Amino acid sequence: MMKWNKPFTYLASSIIGISLSVPVNLYAADEVNVYSARKEQLIKPLLDEFTRESGIEVNLITSKADALLKRLQTEGKNTPADILITTDAGRLHRAKESGVLQSAITQALKNKVPVNLQDKDGYWLGLTTRSRVIVYAKDRVKPSELSTYEDLVDPKWKKRICIRSSNNIYNQSLVSSMIAHQGKEKTEQWAKGLVSNFARKPKGGDRDQIKAVAAGQCDIAIVNTYYLGQMINGKDQKQKDAASKVAVFWPNQNDRGAHINVSGIAITKASKNKDNALKLIDFLLSKDAQVWYAKVNNEYPVIKNAELSDTLKSWGDFKSDALNLTKLGELNAEAVRIMDRAGWR
Ligand code: FE
Repeated sequence: MMKWNKPFTYLASSIIGISLSVPVNLYAADEVNVYSARKEQLIKPLLDEFTRESGIEVNLITSKADALLKRLQTEGKNTPADILITTDAGRLHRAKESGVLQSAITQALKNKVPVNLQDKDGYWLGLTTRSRVIVYAKDRVKPSELSTYEDLVDPKWKKRICIRSSNNIYNQSLVSSMIAHQGKEKTEQWAKGLVSNFARKPKGGDRDQIKAVAAGQCDIAIVNTYYLGQMINGKDQKQKDAASKVAVFWPNQNDRGAHINVSGIAITKASKNKDNALKLIDFLLSKDAQVWYAKVNNEYPVIKNAELSDTLKSWGDFKSDALNLTKLGELNAEAVRIMDRAGWR
């Protein structure tokens, strides 16, 4: 891990501030500091490429999403971080609400990303998308039996559905999207119906739900697409075998489209290298960066005309929900209350 504090270069740059004849790049602390909830190997090569192209050094700290947010709050205006990279619009919204971000995304950057994949007040931008889909056991479920998230409350799915717990942000965001589309009452009824069809008490992560479908403990599961992508493309043969037993079903294709979410990026309120932060965001939205980043994360690029990985291509085209993802954050507290009342543990 690189060092954060560079007293010498800071000193040098402050001297340069009053001595214009000295070539600035020679001594300036030309850097940008990133807090990322993505694993180092899934982003570091891209940041290295940015440094090669721009001469701007990137200092990277990776940790769990909630820990990074807490750290930003604790450090306050003393944080070295210029940028936060994390997943789920619900979390990005939480960071915005907690006052650690600033609305600094330029119009030029906003224009590169579909408007529903960015904060309505300019606090964060989506970098990749993922969908929360239904996966089904190929030998026990016909895709023609599936249709919508709403239909999962049908008694035909009794004791056949696996899904992780309600304290997971991805499920909270899915429920937020249901509230946005059909209101609180219907969503609560839906959540109760879904819980009554659970095959088991929620446990584990999304990969565990896919494994449970493959092992016959349930017939369908609701999971994020990239987890299946990771299992297909990873080195673990057991996971590959499990993944081969399931298929992706895109819900709600005849109405609003499948629920999607993002991994996103934001500039911290205390950023001391805002121009460099904007340059890094611009780089991450370039075509080559988008293709690479989406591919290694088994996700979808946010910019137009960027090629998809073979795995994503194999799942086919789909219609995605056009809901502005800011809503997922705004409705999060309501979603949590509804899941709680529905007995979704
Ligand atoms: Fe995840």
